[in-house]
Amino acid sequence: MSKKVGIIGSGIAGITLLKALADQITEINDSRIKKLNIKITLIERGVNLFETFRMNPSSNPVVVVHNPVTSRTDYQSFCYQGINKMSAWIAYLEKKFETKVAHTTGLLHLPKNVHEQKKWVSVFNKNSFYQNYIVEKNLLTKYWEKTSSSDVGIWDPQGFWLNPRKFSILCLKDVNAKLENDVRISMGTEVRKINSLKKGVSLSLKTNGLESDVFFDKVVLATGSKTKDILCENTIDIGENKIRQKNLALQTNFGQLSRFEIPNEYTNFFPKFIFCKGGYVTPITRQSIYSGSTYDKVQNEDIFLINRNNERNFDRIRNIFDKFESEIKITHRRSERCTSSDKFPVVGKIGLDSEQDLFVFSALASRGFSYASLLAEMLASDILSEIFDSHVKNKTTFSRFNGLVNPGRSI
Ligand SMILES: Cc1cc2nc3c(=O)[nH]c(=O)nc-3n(C[C@H](O)[C@H](O)[C@H](O)COP(=O)(O)OP(=O)(O)OC[C@H]3O[C@@H](n4cnc5c(N)ncnc54)[C@H](O)[C@@H]3O)c2cc1C
Repeated sequence: MSKKVGIIGSGIAGITLLKALADQITEINDSRIKKLNIKITLIERGVNLFETFRMNPSSNPVVVVHNPVTSRTDYQSFCYQGINKMSAWIAYLEKKFETKVAHTTGLLHLPKNVHEQKKWVSVFNKNSFYQNYIVEKNLLTKYWEKTSSSDVGIWDPQGFWLNPRKFSILCLKDVNAKLENDVRISMGTEVRKINSLKKGVSLSLKTNGLESDVFFDKVVLATGSKTKDILCENTIDIGENKIRQKNLALQTNFGQLSRFEIPNEYTNFFPKFIFCKGGYVTPITRQSIYSGSTYDKVQNEDIFLINRNNERNFDRIRNIFDKFESEIKITHRRSERCTSSDKFPVVGKIGLDSEQDLFVFSALASRGFSYASLLAEMLASDILSEIFDSHVKNKTTFSRFNGLVNPGRSI
């Protein structure tokens, strides 16, 4: 008998989960005579890929991936493993589709002020991970080709930037090649209500004004900044009990990324690597530099706020070159991101009863592209083990990070 999995949301969480499921199902089926019979539906409220790309943060024109400087060794190690996994996925997609997805330029990371510099030095002393990456003032000045205002920084050779839309499309192509008729993408479909049953989950969907109820064996909320609304404002029916997932403290931030068109006469002043100082500056691509991101706690489309954020993003570019005489054309893009109170993502089964079939894959915060593929593999492995009675073995890395991202943790 076939089993049905529903994934709500086609951001980086939903797409990477779809690919991880496709990879693991293919791997299992290649080694068995009796094949797993599993149908997956990706549900997205955006009417088509282009509208979805216009809205969600997973489709910003660029994203940057790099190791954080943090005193939390568990977070540092989680990001490092995540970046390795993401790099492996990218290498696979680039080879399979004979194209380029990521620009592995490396990244120069400087503390944003003296206060942060002090913190960094203490982090470097406590965690040997950073020892290989530290660059001191004389070297910074060499990289920088001018005197650095910071005494210490990080050269992260793993740092890269990518076009997330291209990454998502290649993931979808890969899934399609592997699962063919066993995967369906329902665009223009909004999930209005979730009814978690004793076994399985029923979703009330609205497509083109028409409402329908559809049953799934497992459902994953990969709904980004809308996860909070779905979990907190709407009551989710869990069998006979109605619960509100109050223990998940999720916050939404509104971010702004700016694009600056750089006139030809200035292009030589900019480095070929990514520069980071309280936010990033990409190298010049198609005559433009992207600088991001500034964040606001409340949604506000006020033009003064937008201009102020553009100005802040431009200030970051002025760290590199500040003698512009010609006018620079500026455009911006605003989107929402979801964060948990401890900054770790929220991934795994939700609800009070572990027998439920409802999962969440959210709160990817400002580093979704660093760890989405790692988390997707962990979650896919959990879902398939449940459906097919532990045919998929949990890897050690997975169990190590499971506790850190478990929705049941205290946040
Ligand atoms: C300005 C900005 C800059 C950023 N820069 C970086 C960066 O450089 N590097 C990095 O790694 N990360 C960056 N991030 C963070 C990154 O973008 C996020 O971590 C990531 O995109 C979150 O992905 P997601 O799939 O969880 O959510 P989303 O991308 O929000 O996707 C959720 C999807 O669910 C759909 N959905 C929601 N509710 C429903 C419903 N009821 N029914 C059907 N569909 C639904 C939505 O339409 C959406 O497509 C940035 C974020 C912002 C805001």
